[in-house]
Amino acid sequence: MSTASPHVEIYDTTLRDGTQAEDIAFTVEDKLRIVERLDDFGIRYIEGGWPGSNPRDEAFFEAAKQLHLKQAKLAAFGATRRVGIRASEDMNLRKLLQAKTPVVTIVGKTWDLHVRDDLRISKSQNFEVIHDSLAFLKRHVETVIFDAEHFFEGFQADAEFALQCCQVAADAGADLICLCDTNGGRLPEDIATAVDVVRRTIATPLGIHCHNDSELAVANTLAAVRHGVTQVQGTINGIGERCGNVNLCSVIANLQLKMGYKIVSPAQLRHLRELSHFVWELANAEPFKRQPFVGLSAFAHKGGLHVAAVQKNRLTYEHIDPQLVGNRQRVLVSDLSGRSNILYKAREFGVDVEEVKPSVRKVLAEVKDLENQGFQFEGAEASLELLLQKNLNGKTRHFRLIGFRVIDEKRKEDEPPLSEATIMIEGPDGGIEHTAAQGNGPVNALDNALRKALTKFYPQIEEMKLLDYKVRVLGSGEGTEAVVRVLIESGDGRERWGTVGVSPNVIEASWQALADSMNYKLYKDRKRSRGKRTLARPASDA
Ligand SMILES: [Zn+2]
Repeated sequence: MSTASPHVEIYDTTLRDGTQAEDIAFTVEDKLRIVERLDDFGIRYIEGGWPGSNPRDEAFFEAAKQLHLKQAKLAAFGATRRVGIRASEDMNLRKLLQAKTPVVTIVGKTWDLHVRDDLRISKSQNFEVIHDSLAFLKRHVETVIFDAEHFFEGFQADAEFALQCCQVAADAGADLICLCDTNGGRLPEDIATAVDVVRRTIATPLGIHCHNDSELAVANTLAAVRHGVTQVQGTINGIGERCGNVNLCSVIANLQLKMGYKIVSPAQLRHLRELSHFVWELANAEPFKRQPFVGLSAFAHKGGLHVAAVQKNRLTYEHIDPQLVGNRQRVLVSDLSGRSNILYKAREFGVDVEEVKPSVRKVLAEVKDLENQGFQFEGAEASLELLLQKNLNGKTRHFRLIGFRVIDEKRKEDEPPLSEATIMIEGPDGGIEHTAAQGNGPVNALDNALRKALTKFYPQIEEMKLLDYKVRVLGSGEGTEAVVRVLIESGDGRERWGTVGVSPNVIEASWQALADSMNYKLYKDRKRSRGKRTLARPASDA
């Protein structure tokens, strides 16, 4: 039987199951902001936490009462009542009611092994626990969902018992029964077969909740949808216990773009990448570059042949139009590159391609030569744009360095070192600026000194911030004599850009990247004021 339902709704558990991931934690404030984002994006159900398990989640539900959600419904999560007491006496169930959410979800046992060895009660006692808990909640809450924990293991071990547990939940008034692959070990065929049997037996709507321990959570979820479940539970970016939950970013994109479901509006879907990055950001985690659909590399082309082909027709090497999920096509310049990569970049930078054509060979040769020395332009597109401009127009420098000196001093063993830099530069009018600044390290001191000197000629330098600084040692075995590559990311509130420097001396490499960064800021401000730029990049991802 394969009877996909006409509609599917998304139930997000980023704030509950997602926070069970190693290294992931959200403050109450973070959680509230994520709820609002999920609501804007069009997620139907948002599970906010487990009020019985920790005070932070209780505080969240208290604060969430002030939220005015556009369409989403908030859910509180808990478990069936303790054995040996009545549901109405169970502290955790009472806390679920105090959360005052329109939806309450509780998890219960459906695998005989858990009932026997973990709870150590009889099967009929387990039925009572499920029935009593759900019936109690249903008297007070609009929508009650039963999460059938370890359902698929339970179904394999003792199908009759697992199905009976679900039947009891249905009889007690559960509005939806969510079948959970809690250990994340199932294959899509197992899921499909079990869902078919449950649908034949139980009339209540079904959901699916998959973990990703076999890297099959998305495939398992889509299989369950094909076989008739109407709710998908998961987390943004797939964060969660162990290897994580099913990644809703991939599920939503696949359901909507490949399987024809209308989960959100096309306009909302174009915020998918932004939503993904927002959650990574609040989790204080680096976004996963290779994340399907939304990652920085998801539509990045490097091989010259690929680049030539996607420019003729993007379908040659792209499974969807990246803009549908708010992503964009990128072309990387590297030693695998050809002429088409350079021309693509020129177009992206808003430079007249006809103007560039005569010098492409020269630029390509220079790029390859620099890459031989250890430069890399994949994260340093601003340096590349300056290089292209230099080849076209001769000069891109806005100042000339006359000299700098950096001093590092440590006066006592238990005192932090102090860095100071002095710098002399020549400005656009030939004026000389000589200045000094301190910093918590030599590069920071140099950055501060350069900034201070340049602000005299170019006040807009103050808008600029250094956002990230990375040093990579190239080639091993040479110890402290090895060449280093410095990548700097800067931003000015409107745009972010990356620059690169390479040298055996880390200060010199940093200087190159810093100088490029400041030059780029000045170059791009001038370009904007002239309005020469014809091809704008998306502001969020410059
Ligand atoms: Zn889970």
